[in-house]
Amino acid sequence: MMIRKVFLVIFICACILSFSAAGYTYEIKSGDTIYSILKSTGISLGVLMDYNQSLANSNYLIAGKKLFIPNENSFSYKVVAGDSLSTIAQKYFTHPDLLATYNNIKNSQMIRSGQELKIPYKFVGTCINKASSVVWPLVGYITSEYGYRKHPIDGVTKFHSGIDIAAPSGTPIISASDGKVIDIGYDDGYGKFVKVSSGARVYMYAHLNSMNVVKGYVVRQGEIIGRVGSTGISTGPHLHFQVEDLKGKTYDPGVYLDNIKYAYNLDYIPEEFKTYMGGK
Ligand SMILES: [Zn+2]
Repeated sequence: MMIRKVFLVIFICACILSFSAAGYTYEIKSGDTIYSILKSTGISLGVLMDYNQSLANSNYLIAGKKLFIPNENSFSYKVVAGDSLSTIAQKYFTHPDLLATYNNIKNSQMIRSGQELKIPYKFVGTCINKASSVVWPLVGYITSEYGYRKHPIDGVTKFHSGIDIAAPSGTPIISASDGKVIDIGYDDGYGKFVKVSSGARVYMYAHLNSMNVVKGYVVRQGEIIGRVGSTGISTGPHLHFQVEDLKGKTYDPGVYLDNIKYAYNLDYIPEEFKTYMGGK
């Protein structure tokens, strides 16, 4: 009888552990690089950085520091009120049926607030238009176009060198192109930013909440490079997306995005997001 109870307790503990242990701790060893860690754990950089944002701030790894490695090579998404599988899939540029199957959801109407969904890395970006060299980096609402505008904070007429796309904080931003991450950092005006070089162009993604890439990383189009935030000079969560040539001359991103700008149903973006913009 006693033995049976002990077994029962062990069984319950094992269940709790397996439920909460969605990952494990990895202690950085001397000689490790981010790429050797990715190789030995089988996790992709974007996923690793979602759980270990400190990697964005360090140019080198510190031996003895601990990283959290999720068991699955997946992003985690917590359902909020108003979500449907379609809107969630849209944020990750993937198909709702893939998410339903992976998360064992029999009835797509039955997702609830607070529920955690797994978005496998390999699903992200599977619904982008691969024929286009530049794709829409985010599902959101354009609040400020390229060109002269009255600055949203100081009211002075200034040139806006990119477009502002408002979206809820934490919304994934995908790389609009293949390329190499040439810079990441913090700027007083643009907040946390990532710059990706692709052929003759450089794409800047600014006001980020968090980053999913490091400097030098070769990113593929459709891969998550960061998440929407409101860092730097900003009135609310949005992405400042900028297109430059190698000399730093900027171009209207709308020219490249025009053909797909209206392809998304943006109706679910709340009214207040329309005021979220920023920059210098
Ligand atoms: Zn802007």
